[in-house]
Amino acid sequence: MQVPFLDLSRQNQAVKAEALAALAAAIDGSAFIGGRAVQEFEQNFARFCQATHGVAVNSGTDALRLAMLACGVAPGDEVITVPFTFIATSEVISQTGAKVVFVDIDPETYTIDPAAAIAAVTSKTRGFIPVHLYGQIADLEPLLDASRRNGQWVIEDACQAHGAELNGRRAGAIGEAGTFSFYPTKNLGAMGDAGFVTSQDETIAQKVLALRNHGQSARYAHEFEGYNARLDAVQAAILDAKLRHLPAWNEERRRWAELYRQGLAGVGDLVLPAVRAGATHVYHLFTVRTERRDALRACLTERGVGTAVHYPTPLHLQPAYRHLGYRPGQLPVSEACARTVMSLPLYQGITEPEVQYVIETVRAFFN
Ligand SMILES: *Cc1c(COP(=O)(O)O)cnc(C)c1O
Repeated sequence: MQVPFLDLSRQNQAVKAEALAALAAAIDGSAFIGGRAVQEFEQNFARFCQATHGVAVNSGTDALRLAMLACGVAPGDEVITVPFTFIATSEVISQTGAKVVFVDIDPETYTIDPAAAIAAVTSKTRGFIPVHLYGQIADLEPLLDASRRNGQWVIEDACQAHGAELNGRRAGAIGEAGTFSFYPTKNLGAMGDAGFVTSQDETIAQKVLALRNHGQSARYAHEFEGYNARLDAVQAAILDAKLRHLPAWNEERRRWAELYRQGLAGVGDLVLPAVRAGATHVYHLFTVRTERRDALRACLTERGVGTAVHYPTPLHLQPAYRHLGYRPGQLPVSEACARTVMSLPLYQGITEPEVQYVIETVRAFFN
């Protein structure tokens, strides 16, 4: 049997008619930038996140960038984040002129270690960007306590966590701002690039709104310089159609995760994803750990099962950050995860026989 690591066509076929209708409506109305489709999606996705404000932008990366600028960051500031994430999280920090400060992750949940983050605070620290990795919200309470005492901000990188919950609150509605990506492979994916900023703070949301459109408060009235970071109307309409399916799709991901848990518990040295107390995981990825990672991957590839590694090199050891002077061994949990993690196929539209085949193949490897 062949089980691809990801097969997006299964989900997109299900919404093809709705996407074509969205495209036809956009062509008929010839409104491609902004307009009602964008506003409706903004309202609906903000409500889905339980956030009071939402601004659609053109990527998760720009969502992070605009959220940071709106919260306030200046050259010379320090922003604390994790090295076990996609580089977009840290790129935007450097690109605003601030300094990236990497701290290690928690070995159980792979999200930011709040004690390490708080220990890294200096007089220059402006804020924190915890990452809700693989679909689980980071341990935010201690960070929020510390940051609010010191006038710092917390921006949730929720690019992998649409609909994830912690103690009844949804990703994106907990920190000063939340940032989402609708890259096609995410739990909610556009048919192109797209992103979103949520906030509970009207001032932050207004600032993001102006920043995404050249700093305009009204046409040709520029309060400050901004960006072209708008979301296309066609993508907004497609996302709005897909959003209606998202609760069921996340539920389906949780069912596949349960099946993997039943089939893989106690197999070899496999470490299955841990779910924090009070958390609802949305399994953007089903990522396991084993000391025999590379051999297991090779075996699965040979037997037709696609896998992936998120992420093979922690950011503090990437050439792009050589100038920061980090050394191997400095952030040992992130480094150990990079060496031992692998993600198994889990997506909307995968079938039970496929998941069972992956389970059998993994079990056969360890036996
Ligand atoms: C996908 C992702 C991003 C970037 O989103 P884009 O839409 O590709 O710009 C940022 N952070 C994390 C954790 C991501 O997974």
